Amino acid sequence: MNIIEQIRDIKDITREQLELILTTENKESVDFLRRTAREVADAVYGNKIFMRGLVEISSHCKNDCLYCGLRRSNTTAVRYRLTDEKILECCDNGYRLGFRTFVLQGGEDPWFDDTRMCRIVSAIRGRYPDCAITLSLGERSRQSYQSLFDAGANRYLLRHETASPEHYAKLHPSEMSFQNRIDCLYTLKDIGYQVGCGFMVGSPYQTFDTLYSDLQFIRSFQPHMVGIGPFISAHDTPFANQPNGKVSYTLRLLAIIRLLHPPVLLPATTALGTLHPQGRELGIQFGANVVMPNLSPRDHRKDYSIYDNKICTGEEAAECRACTEQRIRNIGYETVVDRGDFNPNTEY
Ligand code: SAM
Repeated sequence: MNIIEQIRDIKDITREQLELILTTENKESVDFLRRTAREVADAVYGNKIFMRGLVEISSHCKNDCLYCGLRRSNTTAVRYRLTDEKILECCDNGYRLGFRTFVLQGGEDPWFDDTRMCRIVSAIRGRYPDCAITLSLGERSRQSYQSLFDAGANRYLLRHETASPEHYAKLHPSEMSFQNRIDCLYTLKDIGYQVGCGFMVGSPYQTFDTLYSDLQFIRSFQPHMVGIGPFISAHDTPFANQPNGKVSYTLRLLAIIRLLHPPVLLPATTALGTLHPQGRELGIQFGANVVMPNLSPRDHRKDYSIYDNKICTGEEAAECRACTEQRIRNIGYETVVDRGDFNPNTEY
């Protein structure tokens, strides 16, 4: 049995196996990894790829993450907030286009306090009882997460960014706490959300050791979703001159995560599509099963600028949906517009 089959069968990986898989130049081994990950994804979700409609509600952020274009110290970032009406309009439009999951994402913006956010979530829940509502609004209190859950939110995406506290401290200012981020993830799960963690591939100071910790964190936390995408440098940030993450590492890590945690909902991210013209298609071929076309109003798209040269900033939601669907069909997969919940029942 080779190491890829072994990783699949025992759902674990060693630090040495990880380095070997990421650095190998043996095309046959990479192809075997890709096929094995896809077989596992097919066994759980078939050839179905779930579409989520992404609404970027605010480019304001009180945090100062060193890698992010929206960090508060970036005085050149253009800041906007969507009104309640605009957010609902995006969801209405998305619903007409067939989306049954709305992902509301934003910087950590205190303007979207619990009163405002619960009002928005309740309004979406009232209009669309058949839809899943995913939030990605950063670190909040237990009480806040609970109120949003009670208002109708089902899922929460909060990348852990890195499972190494030392690495975390190199990516964030000292006022941000690694432990609080991890605690938030456990709190969200405890409340009953479907929870997504994740990390950037190739973030500055990342090593095989930190990546190994990320994979072990995923194994122990057992998230419903994992968001990974390459780090892409953003101008006017401390990491503006750092090299971008590697597409090859991102694809191989997608495949490894699929093998370690077969039922995970795994997006082929916009960042991957930004660094490679076929990045999202390749992501699917390496085991991803989710895509997130953008439903944000076109006039604000380019202002949600977490990294440079982000794709899909000029299209209307309908175009974005049609383009994504076509790309997925071209590689032999089918987009589905149901809620696409986590499926824990798997033979793997
Ligand atoms: N504020 C929320 C949070 O902290 O989870 C959600 C928005 S935040 C911009 C979403 C994700 O973007 C982060 O978790 C981070 O992994 C990713 N991100 C930020 N800057 C990036 C960059 N330069 N390259 C790639 N991904 C980046």
